[in-house]
Amino acid sequence: MPIDAKAVVTSLKELRALTADEHGAQRVAWTDTWLKARAWFADQIKGLPVEHHLDAAGNRWVTLPGASEQALILGGHLDSVPNGGWLDGCLGVLASLGVLRRISEEYHGRPPVTVRLVDWADEEGARFGRSLFGSAAFAGNHTIEADRGRTDRDGVRLEEALRRCGVQMEAIGDAQQEQKHAAAYLELHIEQGPVLENLGLPLGAVTGTKGVERHAITFHGEEAHSGSTPMAVRRDALAAAAKLALEIRAIAGKHADSVCTMGSVKTFPGIVTAVVGRCETTLDQRDLDAGVLAAMYAEAQARSQQFAAEERCTVEWSRIWKIEPVPFHPELIALCEEAVRETAGKSHRLPSGPLHDAAEVARAGIPAVMLFVQSLRGISHNKIEDTREEHLEQAVAALDRLATKTMAWMQQAPQQVRSASAGGAR
Ligand SMILES: [Zn+2]
Repeated sequence: MPIDAKAVVTSLKELRALTADEHGAQRVAWTDTWLKARAWFADQIKGLPVEHHLDAAGNRWVTLPGASEQALILGGHLDSVPNGGWLDGCLGVLASLGVLRRISEEYHGRPPVTVRLVDWADEEGARFGRSLFGSAAFAGNHTIEADRGRTDRDGVRLEEALRRCGVQMEAIGDAQQEQKHAAAYLELHIEQGPVLENLGLPLGAVTGTKGVERHAITFHGEEAHSGSTPMAVRRDALAAAAKLALEIRAIAGKHADSVCTMGSVKTFPGIVTAVVGRCETTLDQRDLDAGVLAAMYAEAQARSQQFAAEERCTVEWSRIWKIEPVPFHPELIALCEEAVRETAGKSHRLPSGPLHDAAEVARAGIPAVMLFVQSLRGISHNKIEDTREEHLEQAVAALDRLATKTMAWMQQAPQQVRSASAGGAR
């Protein structure tokens, strides 16, 4: 039985009409527009033979019970950034609903395994700065104490915003109960980058989410008068920082999928008549391989010391944030490639630079994989975010094929599935 991919695209347009204004999507988590999107979604599942509820962290679960309790989970997020695009997150939710509907019809409401859909709460962290809120709670990686103090731009506390949506801060850890019987997790998402478009491919299988090393790097030199200080005796902190800003391109360039970004440079005193005495910079480094990431970090440190010495400066590093790379499940990646090849003729494996809820699910030891569909111009988190309609339809068809393959895979080795991933996913 074929999935109705056109109906999924139509529903995406309907959601856009309901929740976007002239600046783009406004489905920011814990706001009225987000609640409106979720109420609309609740309407969409009417008539299906499913159970649905919100868990303790505000994630919505829709469950189609099967002959086996082993559950295939399909996910996405309805929340968006302010002025966001029409596909980020909600493509995953609405394509998943299409797949669940197809499976329900094919098996007359009783598939061989249980199929669940999850709409994660607050993937973006746009309002309170806490990304992957709901999936982290599900995985047991939430931090109530750190989250308690968070406020939005208007001073509203996260705790209050949650309560308005029926979520109690103290209880969010209970969302871990939803892990019960979880055997596999699939997520379709737009790529949000230019890789697939440059290759001329509509779809790709995602190998994992990259690890991140994020540091503040400060170079210390000496403030001096720009007129009276000869070039040879200057201790110019910006000169040292500038050398590093260029060098990180070579450091990243040694590895196929690495990226390094110096996103912020501040100079002090920062006036036109003074040599820079202090230069504060930030460095963000990402790769899917923990060894590569560690090597890039070590090399950037060594180079910064060298450049500081060359400019008679000193340098100090402090870590802002770090997350390990999260590889997806090798057998599910292979199934995903098969589904892509059968749908679009050719597949490509690529890592994800952005983090996704699937990373939290994989960290919980549940076999997971993501499917990417091409983003036009690689643009996302912007109202011009777009994907060709025929590519969206192919993406829905590929997710549907992947779901079928994953259900068969779960039935082959139901007891081994979980243990195989516990080692592989970490
Ligand atoms: Zn997203």
